[in-house]
Amino acid sequence: MEGRVKYQNILPRDPDKLEEYRKRFFSHVNAKGDDDCWLWNFTINPKTGYGCFTLPAGTVTAHRIAYALEHGTNDLDMYILHSDKCTSRLCVNPRHLRAGTASENSKQAFAAGMLKPPMVKLSKEQVLDIVLLYAAGAKQADIAEQFNISQSEVSQIVNGLHWQDVTGIKYQRRRFNKKQLTQ
Ligand SMILES: [Zn+2]
Repeated sequence: MEGRVKYQNILPRDPDKLEEYRKRFFSHVNAKGDDDCWLWNFTINPKTGYGCFTLPAGTVTAHRIAYALEHGTNDLDMYILHSDKCTSRLCVNPRHLRAGTASENSKQAFAAGMLKPPMVKLSKEQVLDIVLLYAAGAKQADIAEQFNISQSEVSQIVNGLHWQDVTGIKYQRRRFNKKQLTQ
């Protein structure tokens, strides 16, 4: 499922450069068996839950690049869909991808809308990094983008609603003193 359709020259035409891109791209992929889902483990668009990768032509979804690399197509004027057996929208296994029509795309969009974006599991170290970044003045939205989580999750961490055992932050309900408010 994708919003934009027309992509031109997403891959370099020079064979050496193309090989370099292929290597760079697949260094961010957990490639497994032929039939397994190969999960993208690099940049994720937090709004869509799809992997993305930046090429000279711009930022493109990771599964679209995987399809283009596999089929040697450069001008992709079509929708790239995940197959039904696919378990994740982060999958970039070319065998799980196919080109489709606009109506197939919107059907998949509907189905995808009922799925939650992949949960990003934070490590304890990351949780502490988040607290430190916030204490150092970083904005919650920027931290959320960096860690591929929602801003509300950042807020819950720095306010002690999540991961209290790691951060030691005690949640305190804000109480407003009536006097303070009227002053
Ligand atoms: Zn898959």
